[in-house]
Amino acid sequence: MIYLDHASATPVSKKVLERMLPYFSEKFFNPSAPYLSAKRVREDYESAKQTIANLVGAKGNDLVITSGATEANALAFTAVAPDNLETEQNLKNTLKSPKVLVLETEHASVLENAKKYAWDTIKVTKTGLIDLFDLKKKLSPEVELVSVSLANNELGTIQPLSEIAQILKEERLSRLKSGNPHQLLLHSDASQGLALLDINVSRLGVDLLTLNSAKISGPKGVGALYVGHGVRLNPLVLGGGQERNLRSGTENIPGVIGFAAACEQLKNPASLAKKYKKLSDILKSELENSKIPPFFLGDKKSKLSNFLPLCFPGLDAERIIYKLEEREIYLSTGAACAASKGKPSHVLRAIGLSPEEIAGSLRISLGVLNTEENVREAGKALVEVVNHECERISRS
Ligand code: PLP
Repeated sequence: MIYLDHASATPVSKKVLERMLPYFSEKFFNPSAPYLSAKRVREDYESAKQTIANLVGAKGNDLVITSGATEANALAFTAVAPDNLETEQNLKNTLKSPKVLVLETEHASVLENAKKYAWDTIKVTKTGLIDLFDLKKKLSPEVELVSVSLANNELGTIQPLSEIAQILKEERLSRLKSGNPHQLLLHSDASQGLALLDINVSRLGVDLLTLNSAKISGPKGVGALYVGHGVRLNPLVLGGGQERNLRSGTENIPGVIGFAAACEQLKNPASLAKKYKKLSDILKSELENSKIPPFFLGDKKSKLSNFLPLCFPGLDAERIIYKLEEREIYLSTGAACAASKGKPSHVLRAIGLSPEEIAGSLRISLGVLNTEENVREAGKALVEVVNHECERISRS
């Protein structure tokens, strides 16, 4: 097998799995129980949370552990949920002007939550970068939350979060001066890029940050939301009051231990970026032999180094994927959840691709399972499939 779809899932490493295993059996105790063995599990859990938090320059207590990035994103949006006491009139007023702004290329788990409120989208450029003029234009006095992912999950385009945070800071200052009582928060979904970017919540200037274990060789079904000081959220799950009353339920101890172990295993981002640059170059040079030259998507200067989104105009990407699957080479057309519904990518539409170009687009995402040899082999196989498709089309 040659796996080129690390943006959708990553394998749990043996070391990570070994660290998790005792917490299923010997150390199975409920961390809220009163005896010493359970208290030790609580200590291990809190220490694992601190390890995860260290990755983004935060404290363990700033994190709310969730069942993944989808839930973390949903929790982030509760920051603007209307109070239960809100009157009908207030609700009508809120619906008049946008309360949340999200980038039009956000993951479905952000977009669907935004739709619960009065919302608007911020445009992106042809490379998938945020249009800062559009953000400024749409930042009306009622906007309370802006959500922009750290890096896009189809293109790998990295957003200038510090610049966005600065724009929001200026707006907050002007609201303070004019007596506008609306809060203004910055949320970012950092599901992609956690392994490749040096992330620090203070430097980025975010109030809420979504983290995802599944993309960094940790277990699936675990994520976290960093919650900045003073940010008020509403619980999504009520019950025993775990996770600062925001996410009740017995803690997922093995999952969090695994997430922390995966964080510890991460290599230096600069050396990883170097590795992926080299692998991408190998792939690109193999692709020079294809009858239809592909064009590459995303932002050359501001892109995750393990992403290689590309388009073969006129070809059917789905067919290419099936042909490669027959050779045990796995890649995708875009986000796994959107692809499974057969919907054309809203991300590729947002960057201005035509329906034909969207149909010919593929996402290659490199990761721990890739080597120079298997990437070269995959490149050759891709060229063979593409050339075969070209011949098939010219014959028909
Ligand atoms: N956000 C982004 C940017 C993602 O890439 C993904 C997963 O593909 C998610 C959110 C959802 O993550 P999960 O399925 O772990 O909830």
